[in-house]
Amino acid sequence: MPELPEVETVRRGLASHVLGRTVARVTLLGHRVARRHPAGPADLADSLTGCRIDAVRRRGKYLWLVMRPPELPGGASACPFALIIHLGMSGQLLVTSPAAPPGPHLRATIEFSDKTDTELRFVDQRTFGGMAVAELVPAPGQPDGVPETLVHLGADPFEPAYSVAAVVEAMRHRDSAIKRALLDQRLVSGIGNIYADEALWAAKVHGQRSCSALTRPALGRVLAAAAQVMERALEAGGTSFDALYVNVNGASGYFDRSLNAYGQAGRPCARCGTPIRREPFMNRSSYSCPRCQPRPRR
Ligand SMILES: [Zn+2]
Repeated sequence: MPELPEVETVRRGLASHVLGRTVARVTLLGHRVARRHPAGPADLADSLTGCRIDAVRRRGKYLWLVMRPPELPGGASACPFALIIHLGMSGQLLVTSPAAPPGPHLRATIEFSDKTDTELRFVDQRTFGGMAVAELVPAPGQPDGVPETLVHLGADPFEPAYSVAAVVEAMRHRDSAIKRALLDQRLVSGIGNIYADEALWAAKVHGQRSCSALTRPALGRVLAAAAQVMERALEAGGTSFDALYVNVNGASGYFDRSLNAYGQAGRPCARCGTPIRREPFMNRSSYSCPRCQPRPRR
């Protein structure tokens, strides 16, 4: 699943291509793309048609467009709402020429009313992604608010409302493992398996260590490392670890070349030369350095 840097890369690309444009037509292919929209695909397409895209926003791994509906009869303005685009495991948002061949995994096309010769396509091979509309509710630091279905998410490290001190305080009283806490999107959003492993490696902390056993400064170092590694990943256009993540022009990120722990089993630690180990973690894997990140004693 794309994490914060990958979603932010997509958000920026999208903003530069679709901001201020009005939706002329939406075509949805298959039923899965609208499965989070209870009223069905036809209703979803209808509700977007005629809307202007006022902003492209993100919190953590979630991306949404702020849609401004056309004026009501009599000139009254309708409330903007969110179109949440879930990228899932393999979702891609591509800005392409309408003449480009559709390909087998095309799930949605958004055409615009202006004469600019591009359209927005949602391509999703594994179909875990999809689109849904939601009401926008006020949230600190988010100028358009956040979708009501995403209010449970904690602020991510790139948001003005994010407070390291507040997250440290929340973590200190938890008995859960630090890696599990980093992945808890209610505490801090945007971090997944890749950047959790990278942050823990950078801070020299084993992911199984209990939050409550770590000092405030140690927790602060892990969170600072998470923000730093995600910033550097964003500069590299994200990590294209499974080859399906691409930006809106179809290009891959190249941060996978800079990974120090994630996916590096058997390769020498960049700090001490000890081969990176892989351990099972929540049906997946964790990568760490056996020497820099000693396992906690039971
Ligand atoms: Zn090491």
